[in-house]
Amino acid sequence: MEAAGAVIRAGMLQAGCGMLARLLAADPGYRGPRVPCGQGHEAEFVSCRDKVTGTVPGPVTLTRAWYHCAACGHGLAPGDAGLGVAGQAMSPGLRAMNDQAAAAGPFAKAARLLENLAGVRLTAKRAERAAEPAAPQRPPRSGTGPGRSRAAS
Ligand SMILES: [Zn+2]
Repeated sequence: MEAAGAVIRAGMLQAGCGMLARLLAADPGYRGPRVPCGQGHEAEFVSCRDKVTGTVPGPVTLTRAWYHCAACGHGLAPGDAGLGVAGQAMSPGLRAMNDQAAAAGPFAKAARLLENLAGVRLTAKRAERAAEPAAPQRPPRSGTGPGRSRAAS
């Protein structure tokens, strides 16, 4: 019974990853040939690039529009902010789960807890990184964009 339950859960999570990836692929974050870089310049569209992000059902590959600012020498993916994954390896939902698990004890234990309860596999280092700084209540992001309401879970 336990093995069958684990197989069913793994299948459901895999199906969830596929559904989430298709949902997120609907808007790769292309905002035109140029977007503000955030430092007073314009960044130009380069190409679509993939980013693997940990989500509650599992790792999902996001294909997103990538822009580069020649003045700053930095790149950005405007769609990442709307999904809450700018500069993050985990979705907001997975970060919240990770933070709760990390608050319960040592990071290695937190990673094991997440894997046992949710089937989410994290390294202790990743759990530790994601939990810093400890923020039980994240303030709402001040950025704007049409994609903000569909944050990755
Ligand atoms: Zn710039």
